[in-house]
Amino acid sequence: MKNFDAIIIGAGQAGPSLAGKLTGAGLTVAFVERKLFGGTCVNTGCMPTKTLVASAYAAHLARRAADYGIVLDGAIKIDMKKVKARADTVSTNARTGVEKYLREMEGCAVIEGHARFEGPNQVRVGDELLTAPRIFINVGGRAIVPDLPGVGEISYLTNTSMLALDHLPEHLVVVGGSYVGLEFAQMYRRFGAQVTVVEKGPRLVAREDEDISEAIREILVREGITVRTNAECISFAPHERGVAVGVSCAEGEPASIGSHVLLAVGRRPNTGDLGLEKAGVVTDARGYITVDDSLATNVPGIWALGDCNGRGAFTHTAYNDFEIIAANLLAGAQRRLSDRIPAYALYIDPPLGRVGMTEREARASGRPLLIGSRPMSRVGRAVEKDETQGFMKIIVDAETRKILGAAILGVSGDEAIHGILDIMNANVPYDVLERAVPIHPTVSELIPTMLNGLRPIEEKEK
Ligand SMILES: Cc1cc2nc3c(=O)[nH]c(=O)nc-3n(C[C@H](O)[C@H](O)[C@H](O)COP(=O)(O)OP(=O)(O)OC[C@H]3O[C@@H](n4cnc5c(N)ncnc54)[C@H](O)[C@@H]3O)c2cc1C
Repeated sequence: MKNFDAIIIGAGQAGPSLAGKLTGAGLTVAFVERKLFGGTCVNTGCMPTKTLVASAYAAHLARRAADYGIVLDGAIKIDMKKVKARADTVSTNARTGVEKYLREMEGCAVIEGHARFEGPNQVRVGDELLTAPRIFINVGGRAIVPDLPGVGEISYLTNTSMLALDHLPEHLVVVGGSYVGLEFAQMYRRFGAQVTVVEKGPRLVAREDEDISEAIREILVREGITVRTNAECISFAPHERGVAVGVSCAEGEPASIGSHVLLAVGRRPNTGDLGLEKAGVVTDARGYITVDDSLATNVPGIWALGDCNGRGAFTHTAYNDFEIIAANLLAGAQRRLSDRIPAYALYIDPPLGRVGMTEREARASGRPLLIGSRPMSRVGRAVEKDETQGFMKIIVDAETRKILGAAILGVSGDEAIHGILDIMNANVPYDVLERAVPIHPTVSELIPTMLNGLRPIEEKEK
């Protein structure tokens, strides 16, 4: 039995930084990681996929070179081995950086292996039994493999195995028309594959407003991606050319024949094999660890951070969980999960930057609303770059004049949204942003203009 002041399980986006703060405060930490340091974001999520998105963008621009007066002789070619090597390098550098940081940390013992609770303050890793009065769970999640007919008879890809591909699939069928699926769909189309997206719901990215879903569909279809929504009869069967993906019982072609199939239908927490029952830690029906507003579980001395608590599904939310816990435990702060304003991006090109409520959620709140919008075709920077797809919109509470939510689907939308996020965090009326003097020419400069044109939401339909 080895005693520590704290045990951290999982080297994802929250655990390593927390270890740094705890050891900095003089506490001893046992750090347990079962596989790859850096977790999902570094190894199979954000970093490699955004590196691939950048390669796909380069291919796209090269194909469009003539639009800009640039002459490239001959067809452009994609070197998939090099594309993969670039993504691998970015991931490897980050992974080794995290591992080195932890191994060199004074007061931190790194233990490799799968951690399981033996009791409320005991964790077993192989032959070692660790005890601590504080335990932090940062175990993340993994891709769901849906129990659809035939799934056991085919070979399929997930976000993890996709990243091992170093050749171009002839026809990639992506099952799941949401964030992970669409990023892979567009990048592989740009690398030169035929791509079909199969989505069981009536529209893509169902969490977003209908106008956003529709604009995203148009962007993807314009690039030659086939989108099959309302695919209520998804099934799989081996086929001489790969896999037959049954799509619809009613309309359209009954099946899509793919050389490769990517399953991107959601994620589940890595909590099934953690021995949580031995510690008495409660989860919800989907396995997410139940936490309160300070990220504490129902068992005193145990906290859950990151994707495994179901309160965020992003790197920045996992990192913010660390910040909340560290500030509360070590600096006597009163930081709360509920202070966090939801914000995220979808990294298709052009990207979608999102903050706060959707229009649908704002309408459902019953508040009096103002709305503003602007097509990217009327944003100078977008016109100059000849990247005018998409639009931006913003929703304001007419009484408090506070911004409730916004979306920027367009070039630099992932960056420009932060101007709105910052004003929402400052908790001041939209007028502050409307009167600001932004830099020209930028996408952000049109946000005050959009606010200047706010109108009652009822007039939107007219
Ligand atoms: C394809 C894809 C693209 C993404 N792109 C983005 C993006 O652009 N932006 C963004 O913000 N988010 C993105 N995400 C989400 C982001 O990767 C996650 O939200 C983030 O990694 C969650 O971090 P975490 O700390 O909760 O867990 P993770 O990063 O998943 O880390 C958990 C760690 O715990 C370890 N572990 C699990 N169980 C045990 C155990 N029992 N014992 C020991 N160790 C254990 C795992 O090995 C892992 O290293 C993406 C995800 C995917 C799949």
